[in-house]
This record gives sequence, C-alpha cells and structure tokens, in this order.
Amino acid sequence: MTSIQDYAAVTGEDVIDRLRQLARPLKGIKVVHVNSTYVGGGVAEILTKLVPLQKDLGLDVRWEVIRGEERFFQITKSFHNALQGIPAPLGDASFKVYEETGAQNSEGLRSILEDADIVFIHDPQPLPLLRLCPNRKGKWIWRCHIDLSHPYRPLWNYLRNFVMEYDASIFSLADFSQPLPHTQYLMPPSIDPLSEKNMNLTEEKVHGAKIEFGLDPDRPIMLQVSRFDRFKDPLGVVRAYRLVKPSVPALQLVLAGGGATDDPEAEAVLAEVRSEAGTDKDIHVLQLPPDAHVTINALQRGADIVLQKSLKEGFGLTVTEAMWKGKPVIGGDTGGIRLQVVNHHTGFLVKTPEGAALRTRYLLRHPDIALAMGHKAKELVRQNFLLTRNLREYLSIMLARMFGAPERIELE
Ligand code: UDP
Repeated sequence: MTSIQDYAAVTGEDVIDRLRQLARPLKGIKVVHVNSTYVGGGVAEILTKLVPLQKDLGLDVRWEVIRGEERFFQITKSFHNALQGIPAPLGDASFKVYEETGAQNSEGLRSILEDADIVFIHDPQPLPLLRLCPNRKGKWIWRCHIDLSHPYRPLWNYLRNFVMEYDASIFSLADFSQPLPHTQYLMPPSIDPLSEKNMNLTEEKVHGAKIEFGLDPDRPIMLQVSRFDRFKDPLGVVRAYRLVKPSVPALQLVLAGGGATDDPEAEAVLAEVRSEAGTDKDIHVLQLPPDAHVTINALQRGADIVLQKSLKEGFGLTVTEAMWKGKPVIGGDTGGIRLQVVNHHTGFLVKTPEGAALRTRYLLRHPDIALAMGHKAKELVRQNFLLTRNLREYLSIMLARMFGAPERIELE
C-alpha cells in the first residue's frame, strides 16, 4: 500500500507538506464516498487510490457502493447516455425503479451516511440517498464525473430536483456546470503515478505483454483502451485503422477493454466491434479482467499510437495515463479530452475516423515529432493531473464546507 510520503519522489517534498497542513484541521472527520461500482471505469479507478490516501492523511474515510438489480443499472446507464445528450425513453416506471433502489440502499447505509461529516455522492446512481437520510448532520456534495454540457432536458429536469438539495456540486470542467442554487467547484480528475497502471515498467515487461496477446513487437501498434461503450467510438477506431492500413500494411490495432459492473451495454457493443473487425488478424480485441492494470500499463507503453476517439468524454483517464507514458494522444475533440490534448502540442484533436487516420499516419512517419510531443504531454500531466493535485482540491473543498468558506486558506 502506498503512503502519502511515497509521492514526494514524484512531486517534491513541499507538495506533500502542504497536503499534510491542509489535512491537519480535518483529522478524524468522517468522510463517506458513495458510487455504484468498485471496479471498471474512471470513478472506481480514482476512488481506489484517493480513499487510502485520505485515510493516510488522518481522515476517517469510507467508500460505499450501492447495489441494484440489472434493471436499475440499465436505467442508470440510459441516464448516463441521456445526460451526455442522447434522448432516452424514460418515464415514471424507470424513475420508480431508480428511487426504489435508492430506498433499498438507504436501509443499510443510513446510519453511516447520517453520521458522516462529509458525504461525496459520485454520479447520478446514488443521488436519491440524500433525501432518504433526513437526520443527516454533515455536508453533502454531488461529484458529477460525466459530460453534462448538453443533457437531455426532461431527464436533467428530473435529476436536478435531487441535485438541488445538495450543499455543493463538483464538475470536471466549466463547460459541464449547470444552473444550480449552490456552490459549484471545478475539479478535473487525476491519475496515480505510483499505481500499477502508471508506474515505470521494464522493457521486458512491455515486450512480454505484446507477446502474450499475440502482437508482433516489430510492427507498429495502434491502441485504444476503453470500456466497450458507444461514446468511446470503438467502431470509429476500427475505421481509422482501416484507412491507415493500406499505407502502413504492418499496422496492428488493439482495442483493449473490459466491463464495469454498472455497465450493462458492454456486451452488445463488444459484439458490434467484433463484427466490424471481421476476420482481420491484425485487429486484436482484448477483453481484460478489471485488475489488468499492469497489462494496460504495458500496452500503453508499448503502443506507437494511442487513440481515445470518444464522441463524449467526462474527462478520459486513459488519455492522462497514455500522456504520462510520453504518448501524444489522438483524441476526440470533446469534453475532458480538450483539457488534456493541446492540439498539435500534446497530441491531436479529431472529429472523424478520417481525422484520426490522418494524424496516425503523421505520427508514424515522424517519430521524432511524436517523441517531442510525448514529452510535453507528460509534463502537462505532471503539472495538472496527478493525484496529489486532486487530493489538495478535495481537502480544500472539505475545509471550505466544514469551516465556512474562507477566501484564502493560509498555509504555514
Ligand atoms: N480501464 C481498465 N480496464 C479496461 C478499460 C478501462 O482498467 O478494460 C481503466 C482505464 O485504464 C482508466 C479507466 O478504466 O483508468 C477509464 O476511465 P476513463 O475516464 O477513461 O473512462 P470511463 O470508463 O470512466 O468513461
């Protein structure tokens, strides 16, 4: 288990000192994070790292996961899609299942939640819990990880009623914030540089992963790591690969993904991807278990081209992960990818498979430029998107909510 002190090697001692100072007044406060899965997807990825470090800083932190039937997760998946702009046929029956599942979960969680000083509710799945904890004593904050810039209005009008009752909300980007009657904080997510997903690996490990999955280590590899989700546009990635293939016949494509336990659509999307890939032996569709962190790390390090061709993206941790490994990412021109990929500097922003193909060919032909862009990408992540920055912001928000909202937080 990593401790907060271990991060000094990456960030310098003063960053860690400041975290300790910020955490001092918060020692012993009861914090609960609630989301809907322990594995798969960005939220689980972040909480896995953040919760132990908040504990290490002296806070009394718990991470709770709500449970639900398959129907609940189908509904919340369409909520997710609708909040990112895809109209969904949702009605009273769906809302009933949603609220009833909230009520069932509140039975087991009520005493913990009502007793907490600060509760962070992640994404829409557990939103109704606040109403179901009438004797809550703490501050409740909604942490929205998704792209809420153009929500399907009928659904947002419904969910907004729950959100309005919170003390504050947190969005990843200014573009995602919505009119709400409370304080809104902007806080992009982050990656853990010391995790198995991001730590340094030996050349042998990277080589070994290529061999393990039947890749030819001497031929170029194009990679996208993502849950099998339409917003990640895996079919667009296959199309981009096909457009490059005639001029780079040696090219291999890897689509690596797995399911999240709160994502019931993954299987259907995976079937579409397999059908699009057809019999092409150079397309490798990998279904990885949720703990395949070292494998993903090795694939990201071993790839010549990393794509994240999302059509909508709350943030895109996979982009941060690849950039940290010195890769210039070719990313969809959307949401949180725009915050990370500075077009022509740390990667390329694209809107179409044709655009992705054009940039892929360019980077394959100019490895020196790819290397220089990759250096800039890594530095951008070091300055902005490491876990320590995220931790500092969480602590600052907790201080502000617990002890009023001072305009300045004085550090020694
Ligand atoms: N991930 C993983 N295994 C997979 C697919 C994704 O471990 O098969 C990880 C990926 O490395 C990243 C996170 O899940 O850390 C996905 O976060 P992102 O913000 O890119 O997308 P989300 O899934 O939250 O939409």
